[in-house]
Amino acid sequence: MNLSTPIEKLFMVGPTYARRLKKLGIETVEDLLYHFPFRYIDYSLVSPIRRVQPGETVTIKGEVLSIKNEYTSRGKKIQKGKIADQSGEIEAVWFNQPFLVKTIRLGEKISLSGKADWFGRKIVLVSPEYEIQKEQKTIHTGRLVPVYHETYGVSSKWLRSRIAPVLKQALPKIKDFLPSGIKKKQGLISLSEALGQIHFPKNQKEAKIARDRLAFDELFLIQLAALKRKKHWQKKTLAYKFFIDQEKILGFLSQLPFELTQAQKRVVRQILSDIKKNHPMNRLLEGDVGSGKTVVAAIAMYVAYLNGTQSALMAPTEILALQHYRTLEQLLKPLGVKTELLTGSKRGKASKFDIIVGTHALIHQRASFSKLGLAVIDEQHRFGVEQRAKLIQKGKAPHILTMTATPIPRTIALTLYGDLDLSVIDEMPPGRQKVKTWVVPPQKRDNAYQWIHSQVKRTPNQAFIICPLIEESTHETLRSIKAATSEYEHLQKKVFADLKLGLLHGRMKGKEKDRVLTAFRKGKLDILVSTPVVEVGIDVPTATVMMIEGAQRFGLAQLHQLRGRVGRGGEQSYCLLFISEKGQKTLRRLKAMEKTNIGMELAELDLKIRGPGEIYGTRQHGFIDLRLASFSDIKLIEKTKKSAEEAMGKLTQYPILRQKLKSHTIKAIEPN
Ligand code: ADP
Ligand code: MG
Repeated sequence: MNLSTPIEKLFMVGPTYARRLKKLGIETVEDLLYHFPFRYIDYSLVSPIRRVQPGETVTIKGEVLSIKNEYTSRGKKIQKGKIADQSGEIEAVWFNQPFLVKTIRLGEKISLSGKADWFGRKIVLVSPEYEIQKEQKTIHTGRLVPVYHETYGVSSKWLRSRIAPVLKQALPKIKDFLPSGIKKKQGLISLSEALGQIHFPKNQKEAKIARDRLAFDELFLIQLAALKRKKHWQKKTLAYKFFIDQEKILGFLSQLPFELTQAQKRVVRQILSDIKKNHPMNRLLEGDVGSGKTVVAAIAMYVAYLNGTQSALMAPTEILALQHYRTLEQLLKPLGVKTELLTGSKRGKASKFDIIVGTHALIHQRASFSKLGLAVIDEQHRFGVEQRAKLIQKGKAPHILTMTATPIPRTIALTLYGDLDLSVIDEMPPGRQKVKTWVVPPQKRDNAYQWIHSQVKRTPNQAFIICPLIEESTHETLRSIKAATSEYEHLQKKVFADLKLGLLHGRMKGKEKDRVLTAFRKGKLDILVSTPVVEVGIDVPTATVMMIEGAQRFGLAQLHQLRGRVGRGGEQSYCLLFISEKGQKTLRRLKAMEKTNIGMELAELDLKIRGPGEIYGTRQHGFIDLRLASFSDIKLIEKTKKSAEEAMGKLTQYPILRQKLKSHTIKAIEPN
């Protein structure tokens, strides 16, 4: 057995449990050992039976004198056992676990942990955890007992009983990948000690020391991987060298209907200074929804065009690709730039165009680019690693501009994307109104509907109604789509019968989506009912109301992005957050939406309250897999960064670390 041994090969696991464990993300021995407990039950108080006090959580060790099933007056089965040590006897009671009578045998040495309480006039142990004591060491009783995330058919007890023997076998063989110099400097224990101690610590202090080491590993490896990618990228040869024609760029800017904001000007300068170098750019452009990233990208693509090369712009959805296509046509067609749209439902010949806008479909037709000089990737975290990698040429590299409206707190950006240079548009174009936001409790639903009705009826104004993603998943599931569809039917028939409603979701055909969106954009629809696909970037200036169902299910940054779909014209706009679940925490979190309209502030807040997974909408995407460390732990981020830089300089001396880096799951975020 080694760390990569598949879990079903283990003693007493087999295919059924392997299937269940997969739900917890456990497929190998290593996954099992890295399935850390999220808390411990303190059963470390071991007491002679005579001293047991009612109300205390305690462990007793003794011999089984009797064990039997009894029926209560209501016909329920309870199990009673009598246990004795040298100091006395005590009874233990369980409810509805008739099999205990067979597993616990007379005369056996047993260890029981649980709460002592009055039962009639006697002190008994109520539903204690039990463990037949074959060895000195216990794992379920008489100590700090680890509690794990469980799934159907896999209890913490089951996990403990498998993890303990695996640790025993595997730990002596584990090689520590962390250089000893770093361990010494940072006061960290060895990997095998840490893995042993995190599952079965002697005390809370040991548990903490173990967590410190393993949390360090997480951030250290992410940063080291980023440094390695950076080094790798720096070795790439540039596909085409660009010359910057200032005159032409000024010409382009002068024909825009607006002046660039200071922030836009700054990032344009950063990008231009990158792309005139002999080296491929690899830059992340972060900017709130509506901050004007598209025009910035358009300038870079114009430069690529002026240098006789092609640009690709990859967007995560067809809707967005279509919109980018339209914007670029508008901005660049007058200058002679030919743009083409390429999506799953619209194919074409890439080679004949200067700019090719598209979805994943771009990748599959990759071969037909003739001279790719610049790749722009919108909302990059929605793409898998391989998809990105496929767009980027092997060997010779185009410049890469990655854009995101997701407000990624700086600490996270620098950790996860330490290999990318960061540009931030932190200023909105002038004249943007603040979207008035309210959290709407269930009892005000009807009033809110009436109000929405009054807003859109006989006015040019329009509303979005967003249904929640029902299941936690990056992609729309069938259930979410069904829910949106039936909500749409209900609203059209029962609530807004005299208005025109449309439905939009991700599984509609490209043409169909286009038809609905065009109708909405032209004002032929009053309300657009949609799954959260509209989140990323739809631009309809006459939309003034954004209503979000089940708002508590969304991360604040995600809500903020949805809200960014309104308030794009001159009219006062509104955002209504419907909640289907109360609770002080939920309310407080959502109330922040009423107070601030700065995406980054909301993201930082959610980072504190809910952790980083929520910023990105889902944890399951697997691209942030922090189990112990936190992106809000700035000290640890800095420490690990320094250590990673140190290690990077001497990587050849650390073969185990090099191997670890290769196999590390962080591959999932590797952009190239
Ligand atoms: P995002 O950053 O969300 O992609 P867009 O690029 O779609 O934002 O820009 C949103 C809107 O703002 C577009 O209609 C665009 O024409 C407009 N816009 C961009 N920059 C400016 C500016 N400096 N002044 C005024 N309007 C601008
Ligand atoms: Mg955009």
